[in-house]
Amino acid sequence: MKKEHPALPPGDAAAALTVLARLMPWLTAKRTMEEILQAINAALGSTLAWVAIRQESEWRMVSAGQPACALPDAQTLLAQSQLCRHHRAWRVICWRRHAGDILFPDDKIIARQLKSGILCKLNYKELGLEGYFFVAFAQPLHSLSIIKSLIIVLVEKLKDYFADIVLRERTEKEMQRIVTQYKALFERAPVLMNCFDKNNRCILWNGECERLFGWSMHELNQQADPLALFFPDAGIRQKVRASVNTSPAVDMHEWHPVRRDGQVLTVLWSNIQLPDHSVLSVGLDITERKKVERQMEMKATIDDLTGCYNRFSMLRKLKEALVTCRPDDPRSHFSLLMLDLDHFKNINDRWGHLTGDAALIHFCDQIREHCDPSAIFGRLGGEEFLIMMPHTNSKLALRFSQKMRIALAQNPLFSNGEKIALSFSAGLVFVNGGQTDTSVLLTLADNALYAAKRAGRSKTVVVDAML
Ligand code: GH3
Ligand code: MG
Ligand code: MG
Repeated sequence: MKKEHPALPPGDAAAALTVLARLMPWLTAKRTMEEILQAINAALGSTLAWVAIRQESEWRMVSAGQPACALPDAQTLLAQSQLCRHHRAWRVICWRRHAGDILFPDDKIIARQLKSGILCKLNYKELGLEGYFFVAFAQPLHSLSIIKSLIIVLVEKLKDYFADIVLRERTEKEMQRIVTQYKALFERAPVLMNCFDKNNRCILWNGECERLFGWSMHELNQQADPLALFFPDAGIRQKVRASVNTSPAVDMHEWHPVRRDGQVLTVLWSNIQLPDHSVLSVGLDITERKKVERQMEMKATIDDLTGCYNRFSMLRKLKEALVTCRPDDPRSHFSLLMLDLDHFKNINDRWGHLTGDAALIHFCDQIREHCDPSAIFGRLGGEEFLIMMPHTNSKLALRFSQKMRIALAQNPLFSNGEKIALSFSAGLVFVNGGQTDTSVLLTLADNALYAAKRAGRSKTVVVDAML
């Protein structure tokens, strides 16, 4: 407030009201207490104003004007015998003269600067505050009753000011408490949580992130682009950045970041761009889950012993091939070869079951070595197998089965130095879209296989063309 001319304490009610009217707009929590006290000095013509407040047994004091006044000076005044004697009974005390002597009893020169003064108790019980307001003038006071009333109105208004301050402090404390709680929650949460600001600096990197990825927040922020640590491929990085949402996404994205030791992880991430353009991400490491899923899937589709497809997945693949097989599309045609090891029981009987197992593995290894990579090979059960050979006619498939017999003869299994020759019989069906029923096809192949057995084994019998 501009101090136009030092006013004397108002001696009439109208002047007091004018002073109050000028002061009221200043008494808001938007001002500092020092600004308010300066405004009071300017409006009343006082040279010194101070407020001393006690909250939870801690004193705070703000003073404005001259002479400089600190908490010990205020306490000297408050300890003054007259006040102690009256104890609680008073609200406002006025000193017409010699107010400076009470405030600065040990410094006569400073004390002389103040003539009159008014001390008012502040009792803001509901705010948990109590204190004193003091204002002093360089002139003696003549008219007391109006200035007293004016001060009482002022301190009532100051109560609103302190209520706002207390509320603000409580809100700040509460906010701080909430922030601390959230920080602890983020830090200890068993999910990945991080936040990067708009300049790509990491500002949140919780314990789970550090544990999983192996880098600390400090280490990340030493990188020009921390994201490059996790996604060395620039194209993937671009996709990761493009996935940032401004509203929470329904689904989480699956990404494959690299951790410090080079292991590629599978992580589900959800992110959101906050109003300050920082990006908050929440992630779930599903690397182990994916591994278990893959193992389960393997177990469900692959035969444990031989490593080829099991009966279930082999029949499913046959069904799928039949769905797409059409007479007018030669690329969809295929040969189906059903194979059964000859006199396999004898191997078990003579060399034992483990050698029988080794023979089954050996047979499968040989098939895999010699058949086309496009062929689909599975175990139907026991020593019986199925091979689907895409765009292979029966002539080529027959040639393959003969090639396999030669390969098995040339690469026999050895058990304890003994040679075990393996041979097989087979039924062969060429599928060119004329037949769509799996069981009918399998029966045809099975019949041909048994025809081969009946014909003396180690043979392949071809089913006549189906169209
Ligand atoms: P054929 O030439 O007529 O096919 O005679 P085979 O002895 O091969 O046929 P058979 O059906 O009489 O016997 C098949 C044998 O295969 C019986 C079974 O104990 C054995 N077998 C089935 N599955 C396994 C396996 O996983 N491991 C071992 N070691 N033997 C198996
Ligand atoms: Mg057999
Ligand atoms: Mg059999």
